[in-house]
Amino acid sequence: MAEKLIEVNNLKKYFKTKKGMLHAIDDVSFYINKGETLGLVGESGCGKSTTGRAIMRLHEPTSGQVIYQGEDIVPYGSRDMKNMRKKMQIVFQDPYSSLNPRLSAAEIIAEPLYVNRVYKTSAETQARVREVMEVVGLEERLINAFPHELDGGRRQRIGIARALALQPEFIVLDEPVSALDVCIQAQILNLMNSLQKQFGLTYLFISHNLSVVKHVSDRIAVMYLGKIVEMADYQSIFRNPLHPYTQALLSAIPVAKLDSVKNRIILEGDVPSPINPPDGCRFYGRCRYRMDVCKNQNPELIKTDSGSYVACHLHTAKAEA
Ligand code: SF4
Repeated sequence: MAEKLIEVNNLKKYFKTKKGMLHAIDDVSFYINKGETLGLVGESGCGKSTTGRAIMRLHEPTSGQVIYQGEDIVPYGSRDMKNMRKKMQIVFQDPYSSLNPRLSAAEIIAEPLYVNRVYKTSAETQARVREVMEVVGLEERLINAFPHELDGGRRQRIGIARALALQPEFIVLDEPVSALDVCIQAQILNLMNSLQKQFGLTYLFISHNLSVVKHVSDRIAVMYLGKIVEMADYQSIFRNPLHPYTQALLSAIPVAKLDSVKNRIILEGDVPSPINPPDGCRFYGRCRYRMDVCKNQNPELIKTDSGSYVACHLHTAKAEA
């Protein structure tokens, strides 16, 4: 049986704003098995990046649990968290702004090794830097290059090398390819796949793009306005999407064949404000299947007969029948 590496239970992250409490993530629960990739998708502002950061404790969760190999790390103090971060790393979207422009490639990759005093000598640290550069496909001649001297793909490879330097088990990939050209995106996705196989890594892959997530994920969780609305293995999401929002997201993926016709579902209405969001289904105002019950009653995420999880009253009614 698959072993859970990380389990997120009822995670919430609220931010205080002048207009009220912003519910960035609201009662989010999921797990990721060892060696697996969970894709987390949704429109920008749905809370997916906040989820990644809250798991890493870069944002302090408002409440909930992040259980890593059986231990809740939310109550951890800074020393315990520093040790945890050797196991948990994050790669950010924009390699240009996430890399210190004043440091060379070698200095950026070496930084976590020095901070965690992994090696006794500088020669050992440099040897490790060369090793991870090779692993991520960065030529040794670039060791003293600065981020602005490199293209986007190579900059992202530095970000990945820095994340790998401490030999982590789990990596949050926060939109790792969205700032890159399409052909470079494919190279980075292939690299992430081969690193996962080589080192048995576990990923949370965050993206606004379902077709990107499809190429890397074992399972996919779809987020809408701070909540997970559907979660299933990637085949089920693509072949039989259950939630009306997932159906709309899928219908928006361009089709390559000229003769194929796709019925695009146009979402009308605006996403409600995450500040004091509605009590009922958050997708209510944009849903073509909405019913009276949806307006005031929040649908819980339930497991369906097919094994998929969905939060929608269309399916709650079926489960109760
Ligand atoms: Fe639509 Fe109702 Fe389902 Fe929400 S709960 S997605 S409004 S049918």
